[in-house]
Amino acid sequence: MTIKTTKNELFKKYKITPLDVQIKGELNEKDKENIVYYLLYIYELSKNNFKKGSITLSSYSAAIVTDDNSVYFGVNLNNTRNEISSVCAERSALIETYTNKVKEFNETGKFDYKIKYILMNNYINDEAFWSEKITPCADCLAWFNTGAHMQKNTKIISLKKGENGLYLDVLPLETFLPLRNLHYKKPVEINENIKIQKTEAAKTVDIDDSVLLSLYKKTYEVYKNNSLSNTSGQNIAVGIISNGEIFTAKKIDFSKRWFIDPLLTASYKAIEKFGEKTEIKAICCLGDDFTTTETGDKHFEGLINIKSLGRLNTKFANSKTIVLTLMENGLNSACIEDYLPKEFKFIHNYEIK
Ligand SMILES: [Zn+2]
Repeated sequence: MTIKTTKNELFKKYKITPLDVQIKGELNEKDKENIVYYLLYIYELSKNNFKKGSITLSSYSAAIVTDDNSVYFGVNLNNTRNEISSVCAERSALIETYTNKVKEFNETGKFDYKIKYILMNNYINDEAFWSEKITPCADCLAWFNTGAHMQKNTKIISLKKGENGLYLDVLPLETFLPLRNLHYKKPVEINENIKIQKTEAAKTVDIDDSVLLSLYKKTYEVYKNNSLSNTSGQNIAVGIISNGEIFTAKKIDFSKRWFIDPLLTASYKAIEKFGEKTEIKAICCLGDDFTTTETGDKHFEGLINIKSLGRLNTKFANSKTIVLTLMENGLNSACIEDYLPKEFKFIHNYEIK
């Protein structure tokens, strides 16, 4: 992807000397100049989008740098406020990257690129070409969680202004998705002696093991008896504990891609009953973390629905809500904060608390 404005034009326009930009986190120094350049360029894209495009008056932009040092860009597209008609800048840059790699396939014969950096910026006003508060939303994180071209050391970078001037805030993908790429065990009948492994966060939550075991058992019954997810070959059941009661739901397929998400469905049952007073104390996700492709391969998509977890984390659940799963070494008890960034709170207009 070529940019019409040169590096020097942008550095001059924003009075920046890339050498003076500090780095917070781990980054190869030789990539710094280009990263600053792309971050300024995408600031200009989000400015255009704010003034001419976005209907929501929130304008974001992203650049993706692949391991062959190619760069691709994207901005958020909000057709309406409805979630299906909107796409964030990061995902739009991912599509741009993918499309270009498909086009380049004829020349390169290769399609095994990895994503090195995801750069993010937004428009606040004409003076602030850096960003104070920026983080991927739960929908983008859901893509990053399962994206085949992401790697453990993919970094998410934004330009920030600190007391000592501008710096690049470099965060590994792991910071946002600490439990990415776990492989879960196919649910089985369990007995009372099963071990419950707990993360440090889960150890701080006051909940009896016997309560978690009965949540597992009820969820497992639903999993075992679900025949409505045969289309995708991915059977999932979710149980939740809300206000002292257990609610369960199964995954229901409409097609391979469209389904009713059991996490939100189980939550909805509680919300319908308890309204604003709904408090989700624990979530149990059981099932297959893969779908079967047309060629018969297993494609890992994740058992935990990060998108729904992000929604519940803004209301009815919180960072200390337990997430119970079955792993090779027994039952695993974690908290929402083990799956999503601790301080992550996605609300309207991308504000973060
Ligand atoms: Zn997003």
